[in-house]
Amino acid sequence: HYGYIEVIIGPMYSGKSEELIRRLKRAKIAKQTVVAFKPYIDNRYSNKDVVSHSGISIDAVPIKSAKDIYNYIDEDTQVVGIDEVQFFEEEVVDIAMDLADKGIKVIAAGLDMDFKGEPFGPTPKLLAVAEFVDKLQAVCMVCGNPAHRTQRLINGKPAKYNDPIILVGATESYEARCRKCHVIIKDED
Ligand code: ADP
Ligand code: ZN
Repeated sequence: HYGYIEVIIGPMYSGKSEELIRRLKRAKIAKQTVVAFKPYIDNRYSNKDVVSHSGISIDAVPIKSAKDIYNYIDEDTQVVGIDEVQFFEEEVVDIAMDLADKGIKVIAAGLDMDFKGEPFGPTPKLLAVAEFVDKLQAVCMVCGNPAHRTQRLINGKPAKYNDPIILVGATESYEARCRKCHVIIKDED
């Protein structure tokens, strides 16, 4: 049969995981063979599930590298789901294409931009080669407009452009924000 790639993108809280879970559950209801994956580092809520911020979930295999997908699929696999796809290496793009060529429907969800508003990891390339792309919006936590960016906050204040990814002793959080309300502080500011 016929494989293809669907990608679900947007900022944090835009409902990417929710939408991925909805599509995978529908495939299961239709008795399709489904396997979901997520990067091993993402243990927000659970290591063995894809979980949305609203609390719905589906079983997932945590993997360290996209190549590991091949260890969990066989000739019967019809649908492969991948959450947090931005955290995989660039090779995830070739692997998604290979799976689609083999007749598998690949549904990937992930951030298209990092908190600086810059394209995130392999996602841009995956969008380019996918048959279907849905860009979701969250609600801007400042003004209520559609939000397509993710604001990083350190101790409640906008993060600086060059702040390290891990900040020991600081409280870090993220908010969905629109273009107007998204703030990035560069060092020269
Ligand atoms: P993503 O995978 O894109 O981070 P999730 O599917 O995990 O998103 O979560 C989406 C849910 O997050 C929404 O249904 C809603 O319950 C919740 N939520 C929290 N903050 C916001 C926000 N600012 N805008 C929209 N939804 C939000
Ligand atoms: Zn706004």
